[in-house]
Amino acid sequence: MSTIDTTDTSITFHGGVGSVTGANFLLEGVGYKLLVDCGMFQGTREAEAKNMETFPYDVTSVHFLCVTHSHMDHIGRIPLLMKAGFKGVIYSTPETRSIAELMLADAERIMQFNSRKTGKTPIYGSQDVHNAFVHWQTIPYHTPKKLTETLSVTLKDAGHILGSSMFEFACADSDGKTIKVLFTGDLGNSPSLLLPDTEFVTDVDYIVIDSVYGDRNHESKDQREDKFKDAILRAIKRKGTLIIPAFSLERTQTIIYQINNWVEEGIIPQIPVFIDSPLAISLTDIYERVTGLYNDDVQNDIAGGDKIFNFPKLKETVQSMDSKHIHTVADPKIIIAGSGMSTAGRVLHHEERYLPDENATVLLMGYQAPGTLGRDLQEGNKEVYIHDKKVKVRATIETINGYSAHKDSDHLVEFVEHANTGNLKKVFVVMGSQNLHFFLLKDFTMSLL
Ligand SMILES: [Zn+2]
Repeated sequence: MSTIDTTDTSITFHGGVGSVTGANFLLEGVGYKLLVDCGMFQGTREAEAKNMETFPYDVTSVHFLCVTHSHMDHIGRIPLLMKAGFKGVIYSTPETRSIAELMLADAERIMQFNSRKTGKTPIYGSQDVHNAFVHWQTIPYHTPKKLTETLSVTLKDAGHILGSSMFEFACADSDGKTIKVLFTGDLGNSPSLLLPDTEFVTDVDYIVIDSVYGDRNHESKDQREDKFKDAILRAIKRKGTLIIPAFSLERTQTIIYQINNWVEEGIIPQIPVFIDSPLAISLTDIYERVTGLYNDDVQNDIAGGDKIFNFPKLKETVQSMDSKHIHTVADPKIIIAGSGMSTAGRVLHHEERYLPDENATVLLMGYQAPGTLGRDLQEGNKEVYIHDKKVKVRATIETINGYSAHKDSDHLVEFVEHANTGNLKKVFVVMGSQNLHFFLLKDFTMSLL
């Protein structure tokens, strides 16, 4: 918990403190209470218990929930908030709302499935998910909206995933002074293949910044593209299967667009590529409908008539029968399937089939948490367990970190340096690492939570 230095406005941090998940921040001012994000705790044994805890504030008295973007660590507890009696209005960009509808429905479906298997009662139901969208309104980027007499908000492009936004609040205190508070949400790893760069923000008094990768730097754009291209070409030369365990949201679309460009430019030959995830396929439909929010290169491709998520021999496999049929397709081929850390989903049956194959490759393009199959493979284990069966690993395992959707240490520092134009008084660092290099910056107070 921490307050900012005015008599009337305060922020309380109810998640993302000493952890990279569970975003949930309460901003209180003259005549209003609002939340920024309401995410799941993920990745630890304690997380499940923490998700079930009662919210530590009076949910019924909160007027607004502002959603920065639709990753589950930012939206996953919204149905629980509805169940707890939230009666306010939810705000986000239109794209965040569309994506959140798919993500929360999918999470609810998985929870129901698991509950039938384990007998555990689901922590919320489909009605709670439905109720969230009854209360959910949208605000486009750069369109100031007055929420109360003392509070207005403007959304700016965070460049993290489609629709991701920073919320910049102008809060009037009772003495007539207005302070500006910026909640960044996750900030993008610009330059992104699909999205415009994160907007720089100036002229704010306080920043709450998400800092997942505050302790490391990523490969550059050129490095990541070279590594990815080489991995594909090697797999083709070996006449093997290339499996990419991928997150359904943004990562899959980035990979498809990247391969689309290389196939169309003749840099890689046309081989079968499968998107083997119903959620990723539905999310790609949303990405296909959006036209105005991509970076200039992508906009030019779209204006030139390119279907940016489609190319010869790309196949979407919705039905599980089609997914199983992939094994009968001759190599070389590429399979993009969830989950991104190989903890569940269709990627497991592909890994079970192809890990023992010395011509196969598994390409890890996202963070692999300790204790996951993805991490076991990354660490070079030669035997793993899938569906309780021992599986030998003879396939080549490769890792590329540069496609991360999060800013690295140097770029987080750069963002704050740009914002440090005179008014900035304090920066609260949430959802991040204790090793953050931010302390190199001076002239304002840092508060690492
Ligand atoms: Zn995120």
